[in-house]
Amino acid sequence: MRLKRLELFGFKSFADRMVLDFSAPVVGIVGPNGCGKSNVVDAVRWALGETRPTSMRGGEMTDVIFKGSASRPPLAVAEVTLVLDNSEGGLPERGSEVSITRRVYKSGEGEYLIDGHVVRLTDVREMLYGTGLGSRGYSVLEQGKIDAILSANPLERRAIFEEAAGISRYRARKKETESRLERVQADCLRLDDVLGELERRRRSLKLQAGRAQRYLESREAWQGEGQRLARHSAHALAAEEAELSVGLVEAETAAEAQRAERAATEQEIGTRALEQESLQGAIERTNAAVAEAAADLRGLDERRNQLGERVQTARRAGQEEGARGAELARRLATRQEELAAAEARIAELETGAREAGERAGVLAREVRTLEADLARLARAQEAQAQVVLQRLNARTHETNQAQAVERALALSEERITRARARADELAAQLAAAQAEETERAREQAEAAAQLEHLEGERAAAL
Ligand code: ATP
Ligand code: MG
Repeated sequence: MRLKRLELFGFKSFADRMVLDFSAPVVGIVGPNGCGKSNVVDAVRWALGETRPTSMRGGEMTDVIFKGSASRPPLAVAEVTLVLDNSEGGLPERGSEVSITRRVYKSGEGEYLIDGHVVRLTDVREMLYGTGLGSRGYSVLEQGKIDAILSANPLERRAIFEEAAGISRYRARKKETESRLERVQADCLRLDDVLGELERRRRSLKLQAGRAQRYLESREAWQGEGQRLARHSAHALAAEEAELSVGLVEAETAAEAQRAERAATEQEIGTRALEQESLQGAIERTNAAVAEAAADLRGLDERRNQLGERVQTARRAGQEEGARGAELARRLATRQEELAAAEARIAELETGAREAGERAGVLAREVRTLEADLARLARAQEAQAQVVLQRLNARTHETNQAQAVERALALSEERITRARARADELAAQLAAAQAEETERAREQAEAAAQLEHLEGERAAAL
């Protein structure tokens, strides 16, 4: 079996589609270092199913895709097709030409095809067992591989011979069958476990089925009893319904009456609401009036305080007037005492005069004249004293009036003003009275001096 043709596209340094025809006897490929000789061998091994990127001299399998060069962009897929000559029937059940294709995409996905049909890697390996072909077969001996075979241990060498003898296919099949057998045995064990579990569940389900059967029987009995009870209840309910329908008619009548009542009540509520609105208005007006009255009250309070102050002032003035009246009364009493003393003296003098009347007839007449004068003066003084007393009374009266006015002042400022004017008037009158009194006192002093003079003359006459 021979390699007939190699078709490369996008694999390593083969950017363009390249077909290498090996139909003529080919001895070798010659070229300078790095021209891509080893890439051809790599392509053959890769198409045969090499899965180790390192053996492709790369880090990942996608490294085999053409990476691009200075003049060309990189590609997204690499594809290699081997065409084998099978005219000798090395690959049974295949045609005279067998193609094996492998593709890998940039995404990492890949696929294998045999004669253009997509297959698995295992199918490719399976087909090639025993032919010496394969990614690790002895048919591809790259650089250093001969050294590796020569220095291989007996076990590795045996693998190469077994492959050459065509028994590696059966060995591989045996290995796969053994591993399948192991898997089947493991599956059997698992099946035993599952069977055990299912048996347990079957028993449990049997118990549950018994319970369910009993439940169904009980439920049937219960339903029968329930139906009987329902029939009985239906009779009772029918009677009750008849009663209730009578009650319903009554209730509807009552409801009608209540609806009418409710309408009347709602109407009344409307009326009340209107009344409430008007009352609210009245309350607001009253509140405003109250606020106004409060303001007035505050004004009146202020006014009262002012009047109180003025009453205090008037009271002090009244007290001063009282003190001055008392002083006047005291002085009047003194005058009266002096008058009494003068009268006593005059009486004494009269007695003396009467005793010497006859001796001093002329003088007596003069004395009588003087006495008449003196009496006149005394009357005048008495009248003056009366006037003073009257005025004192009047002032007392005025003071009382002022007190009354003081009380009234709490209500009226006007009257206080009048009282004060009156008090001022009285004070003026009092001043006039005092002046008059002073005049009278002076006249009295003159009379006394005259009396003394007369007395002196009388003494001289005697
Ligand atoms: P030597 O005589 O030294 O063994 P060679 O002829 O065997 O050389 P290869 O090793 O086959 O040469 O090829 C190496 C060349 O392939 C390098 O020039 C490298 O740039 C190129 N090459 C490898 N992988 C890619 C890739 N993915 N895309 C583009 N070029 C690649
Ligand atoms: Mg090389």
